[in-house]
Amino acid sequence: MASWRRLIETSIVDKATKIYWGESLSKHTTIRIGGQAECFIVANTVDDLKTILAIAEHQSIPLFILGNGSNILISDQKFNGIVIKLGDAFSYCMIENNNLRIGAATPLSHILTYLLDKSLSGFEFLWGIPGTFGGAIVSNAGAYSQNIGDRTIKINGLLPDGQEVAIDKNNLHFDYRKTTLPLGFIIMEGFLQITSNRPTAIRQLIAEYRKKRTLTQPAGASAGSVFKNPKLVSAGKLIDDNNLKGVCNGNAYISRKHGNFILNRCNASFINVYELLQIIKSTVEFNTGTILEEEIQVLPKSQEVKKWQNQKNCSG
Ligand SMILES: Cc1cc2nc3c(=O)[nH]c(=O)nc-3n(C[C@H](O)[C@H](O)[C@H](O)COP(=O)(O)OP(=O)(O)OC[C@H]3O[C@@H](n4cnc5c(N)ncnc54)[C@H](O)[C@@H]3O)c2cc1C
Repeated sequence: MASWRRLIETSIVDKATKIYWGESLSKHTTIRIGGQAECFIVANTVDDLKTILAIAEHQSIPLFILGNGSNILISDQKFNGIVIKLGDAFSYCMIENNNLRIGAATPLSHILTYLLDKSLSGFEFLWGIPGTFGGAIVSNAGAYSQNIGDRTIKINGLLPDGQEVAIDKNNLHFDYRKTTLPLGFIIMEGFLQITSNRPTAIRQLIAEYRKKRTLTQPAGASAGSVFKNPKLVSAGKLIDDNNLKGVCNGNAYISRKHGNFILNRCNASFINVYELLQIIKSTVEFNTGTILEEEIQVLPKSQEVKKWQNQKNCSG
């Protein structure tokens, strides 16, 4: 039992913030993989967030912030630290000075519903991306040549020392599936530029994106596209051309519908998926010379995984 347990339990003052010990992270990722978190906190106030940051800093406790877990492959070993998820108090949309103000925990689907209701437009391309606003900012989520960063004006959040900061668009650098934010930064909310549009036009755009997505992407437990698209060809096409679609490893398999998706059939392990990632990377590199880079965040990093695999092999 963690020695800092009492400290966490006595320092979190707001009843709306919930603390869970030994929560399975597989319940919080869309690929349904992830081991226990020693401490899992659904934070509902800024003060509680600051308290958690201060305890983690002083006690050197590893800290991880999770959105909807839709762009992540987490080890099924126990995470000996604190996982923070922002609660409902951080899930909101409102119009402020003609911009959209959004809480970091807001599901992207809620943003689309809110905008449609107000005849506002600009984010229909996000349809079908199962993330939160915070997670979308971190990976500069996008589709069909549009990205959330294109219309982001400002982000408010916390530095690891608990300091509240606002980062405006001149200091936000968005790139293909990445954003440069300070290390350990917690996004609390952000502001997006919106435009007016007729509800019929908005509905039509959403219908087009929905059709494209349902035609090309598989249903089931996944973390979306596992690799970034190289400059000249899509990762899915490279995987298809290398006859990797349908390849299984335990209960994980490469989708036949979209080669860049790995699905968890049922109870697949972290290693099942991790090994499929390595098979894809090495096959594609061997046959084409192209080095694929993960789009999903893999926790822990590959060095650590190799260490466990060696330990497992040594212990028989
Ligand atoms: C079926 C499917 C389809 C998808 N399609 C697309 C697509 O078309 N385009 C696309 O870009 N992505 C796509 N994705 C990937 C994913 O949905 C997006 O990247 C999404 O924006 C991730 O948001 P999340 O809340 O799930 O983040 P998580 O996966 O929970 O976290 C991702 C990263 O963001 C960090 N993070 C989360 N919240 C915060 C916060 N408040 N403050 C600081 N850091 C934070 C986490 O620490 C982690 O590093 C798809 C995924 C699935 C499963």
